[in-house]
Amino acid sequence: MITLKSLHEIDQMRRAGAVVARILQDMAELVAPGITTWDLDRLAESRIKELGAKPAFKGYHGFPACVCISVNEEVVHGIPSKKKVLQEGDIVGVDFGVTLDGWFGDSARTIPVGKVAPEASKLMEVTQKSLELGIAQTREGNRIFDIGHAIQNYVEGFGYSVVREFVGHGIGRALHEEPQVPNYGPRGKGLALKAGMVLAIEPMINAGSPEVKVLADGWTAVTKDRSLSAHFEHTVAILPEGPSVLTALV
Ligand code: MG
Ligand code: MG
Repeated sequence: MITLKSLHEIDQMRRAGAVVARILQDMAELVAPGITTWDLDRLAESRIKELGAKPAFKGYHGFPACVCISVNEEVVHGIPSKKKVLQEGDIVGVDFGVTLDGWFGDSARTIPVGKVAPEASKLMEVTQKSLELGIAQTREGNRIFDIGHAIQNYVEGFGYSVVREFVGHGIGRALHEEPQVPNYGPRGKGLALKAGMVLAIEPMINAGSPEVKVLADGWTAVTKDRSLSAHFEHTVAILPEGPSVLTALV
């Protein structure tokens, strides 16, 4: 079942989204060579408390931390660790969600650690742009695969590939609601988009082949060929006049 949100409810979700954006920015400002992914998680947890929210990921199906942090060939769902020290040239995917007054927000960014190689920089830039193109399709009158088609068509033009195993999702009173939002697919097909839907759109784009595998920790997904991967995500509401990003930094 897909729940449509009222304008009032979307305003409440925007408050949750603003907290997510603020804390993602705080983490981005801490990212530097020598910082551990654990340090980023600790910062997020203390900021969540200060801002009166709750972590969305901690305890979700047993996930042990507030933030999923995935470095280089890690695609998504990396577990923060004191042993994972960021190095100059890494790219670090930070995926983060909170709940505020019962409403969820979910967003992700991939952040360069110091100076990164041009190939890494390009992958991040193209992935971020693909998210923007996907968001532009997130409007009443379009179909759900219009979103994925825009993303896939753009990134494949650069020789990159779209991860199939993980997709975006509806979001609201729960972190993951229907529908699924694939980052690939045929234009003009699938569910008709309606005002009041709120979707987390999250392209996961690999520099090499699209295949991923999950490591022995049961969480961390990596590219099978160990190529770099980037991930950007926003929570987006469909308003009558078009898409509205709820996890924008305000
Ligand atoms: Mg996320
Ligand atoms: Mg998500």
